[in-house]
Amino acid sequence: MKISIIGSGYVGVVTGACLSEFGHEIIFVDIDQKKIDLLNKGIPPIYELGLADILEKNKHLISATDDYNSAIGATDLTFISVGTPCAENGTIDTVYVRSAAENIGSALKNTGKKDIHTIIVKSTVFPGTTESVVLDALERMSGKTAGEGFYLGCNPEFLKEGVAIEDFMNPDRIVIGSYDDGAGRVLSELYASFDCPKVITGIKTAEMIKYTSNAFLATKISFANEIGNICKKAGIDTEEVFKGVGLDARINPSFFRSGIGFGGSCFPKDVRALLSGAAESGVDTAILKAVLDVNEAQPLVMIDLLNKHIPDLKGRKVGLLGLAFKPDTDDIRESRAIPVISALTDMGAEVVGYDPLASENMSVLFPDVVYAKEISEVMACDAVLITTEWPEFENLDYSGKLVIDGRRVRRAAETAEIYEGVCW
Ligand code: NAD
Repeated sequence: MKISIIGSGYVGVVTGACLSEFGHEIIFVDIDQKKIDLLNKGIPPIYELGLADILEKNKHLISATDDYNSAIGATDLTFISVGTPCAENGTIDTVYVRSAAENIGSALKNTGKKDIHTIIVKSTVFPGTTESVVLDALERMSGKTAGEGFYLGCNPEFLKEGVAIEDFMNPDRIVIGSYDDGAGRVLSELYASFDCPKVITGIKTAEMIKYTSNAFLATKISFANEIGNICKKAGIDTEEVFKGVGLDARINPSFFRSGIGFGGSCFPKDVRALLSGAAESGVDTAILKAVLDVNEAQPLVMIDLLNKHIPDLKGRKVGLLGLAFKPDTDDIRESRAIPVISALTDMGAEVVGYDPLASENMSVLFPDVVYAKEISEVMACDAVLITTEWPEFENLDYSGKLVIDGRRVRRAAETAEIYEGVCW
């Protein structure tokens, strides 16, 4: 198929690259000229394991542009994968999705395309958004009617950053929300060779599956952290507890361990959006509120533990191992290192941060932090805080150090002079 992808971020680029592996021709559309230039050279604009090899290998199938007319005119299927950030009131900001849909609608009109085009929303949007914001923009700008002049559907994405290629290629399930039979048919054909359950449903249900899935995973993590805090006080090893519990097939061990909470571009924003959407329709969401409260408080447990050993942080050097919201990514969105850095700088500490990929991104947010080129600069600080579980942190020698561990790095527990785990 000939496929255009609007929005060349983590989801868009991974989707396009993976689909090019099946021989599909891909045109990326973005408003960021830097990303367009990189993609046209076969270079990924974001870091994701395996992505560079695919883009290089399939260069002949891939191009990028900011021109909607040429991209829509030359393709049969378009995915919208632009960002849906949090608006001030917690709901999603649909400005990018609306603008993408308006531009696609105009292009459908401008190019005078005769063949019926399929538009699929891959961005995470609140239930009802595709059938209101996207449908309205497409019909208004194209002068065509959904189901006749174009097909409309949604296909939420469940990939995890860091293992996004693996997740896209081997999904647990594919969810297809279809406004009309056409969108369902096109996506069923596109994903025919994927050997996994396919859930074909209405658009709002598909949108809700995505939110429910993320809200449940976030709940599992906050629950694990609350239990972990109880374990810490009681002198119980929380990891052993969750091993014992997770082996129950009804529960499952995945995403079931304690630490300093969840970050990233999805869980916090999606739980907030669900909460706000529920409030707007008069539904109380005690569980979702608690999930966010626990997640906000959890990184600060590190500061309490640090204060136990260094009561006055003014002028003291504190090193942070890990700035990305998780290992194997350069993404710092909602990273749990952010509240930790804020608290430390508020208390007058001098922060030295190290991350294999994310220092540049974090330096935009915190220009005054010292970004170490070598881990030894962090190890020379008065205390070391482990905020992301990069595998290389397992190979360090922590002897003689005060370590506060938010991610359970075994080597730190074994070698540090003073070691405090947040929940163990
Ligand atoms: P991102 O911020 O990395 O990328 C979005 C891209 O869209 C950017 O390159 C931006 O320049 C581009 N863009 C914005 N407006 C545009 C427009 N009008 N036309 C063309 N391009 C435009 O976002 P992301 O992390 O890839 O997330 C995209 C969506 O997928 C969000 O709704 C997110 O919630 C969802 N999602 C993300 C993940 C994840 O792990 N990152 C996983 C599943 C779902």
